Amino acid sequence: MTTGGTAAYQVHIETFGCQMNEYDTELVRSLLIARGFAFTDDRERADVVLMNTCAIRENAHNRVYGHLAALRPIKKQRNLVVGVLGCMAQNLKQELMDQASVVDVLVGPDAYRKLPDLLTQAIQAQERGLTEKGLAVDLSEYETYEDILPQRAEGLNAWIAIMRGCDNFCTFCVVPYTRGRERSRDPEGILREAEHLAAHGHKQVTLLGQNVNSYRHDGWDFARLITAVADVPGIARVRFTSPHPKDFPPALLDAVADHPKICKHIHLPLQSGNDRILNLMGRTYSRKEYLALVEEIRRRNERIALTTDIICGFPSEAEEEFLDTYRTVREVGYHQVFGFVYSERKNTIAGRKYPDDVPDAVKSDRVTRLVDMQKPIALQKNRDLVGSAVEVLVEGDAKKSSTQWMGHTGQNVTVVWDKHGAKAGLGDLAQIRITHASVTTLYGYEI
Ligand code: SF4
Repeated sequence: MTTGGTAAYQVHIETFGCQMNEYDTELVRSLLIARGFAFTDDRERADVVLMNTCAIRENAHNRVYGHLAALRPIKKQRNLVVGVLGCMAQNLKQELMDQASVVDVLVGPDAYRKLPDLLTQAIQAQERGLTEKGLAVDLSEYETYEDILPQRAEGLNAWIAIMRGCDNFCTFCVVPYTRGRERSRDPEGILREAEHLAAHGHKQVTLLGQNVNSYRHDGWDFARLITAVADVPGIARVRFTSPHPKDFPPALLDAVADHPKICKHIHLPLQSGNDRILNLMGRTYSRKEYLALVEEIRRRNERIALTTDIICGFPSEAEEEFLDTYRTVREVGYHQVFGFVYSERKNTIAGRKYPDDVPDAVKSDRVTRLVDMQKPIALQKNRDLVGSAVEVLVEGDAKKSSTQWMGHTGQNVTVVWDKHGAKAGLGDLAQIRITHASVTTLYGYEI
């Protein structure tokens, strides 16, 4: 394939997992384009297939193994370099670098700068009929890719990683081992990135970190940073994910409650509503402390929507302990609940110390009960908005019809309305009068 008159190796990249991985894929694109690689959406035409992987959930894990198996016959027919990036690369290096594996290059989240050279070596080795495996999985205490401007797709939404790594060591979580110690980026670089995004038409920015509340850099904390990003001209909305409930500073609550451009939505992972399980998880807050934080958030601004993550079937979780979680979820009344079955991750504290002893059927049943309980709560919250006007960022065509617009409220609820008669266009903030509601979507018309 030729790009701008120069022969360029074609790279196809697939991203699994969280928004941080989406962001890292943009970094990788930038690093490879600077070294003359080109990108293709068509895997069949690619010289290199990269998978940016996630090690947090079993599901993402299995999908990566499925994709690797599908590449084996292609590799038998032609030259193809296969690379695994991200958390699985870091966590499962031995397994993935096995001689029999189809993987040629394995690069962890702190070593992406080495990727262009490793790919070039693997490609050149294949061209000589050889196999050369490349590995770069060193964790760094300093790497924040400060000088790399991620190569983004067009669109209204963009992410900025404000920090990397995590020092919390929740016992179920692999992130501190795959992404290393916590590091915060220089606020000046973050603000430059936000200004660049605004200049290129991105209206909504999501600030990313494993625990954004721990952001610290030369006297800056997260409250100061998010306020400064929200004040960048051209940025209409700022979101963030995720804060840890253990240290939610009052200044941040004030910023979320009061700044007109910071969305009234906090994703506040509860994980369990039982103190013994919370303790085993290493979450360092109790149910009571979590509920006090929820009360404080709502006291400052009752419009702030809360969403959460719950793990069902953590080792030794008894039915009564799950019911504590169930009751806590009902009591808080979240806008959305993401329920996950516990899956043991290699190299975590829980993986080493606690036998994965809750049967799969019990774990799944608990998730189902949570989801069933949550649906009418979400429906009621949406129905409460019928008759009122909400502010929505116009993000694109509705999924089901190109004659309708789709966007989200600041609380992150999807809104759909007719284009006919609408004044606001893509990227504008529109006022929508809500006429009816489902569990997941609000419907209305522009006023
Ligand atoms: S805060 Fe806990 S769950 Fe979140 S990334 Fe860090 S260790 Fe994992």
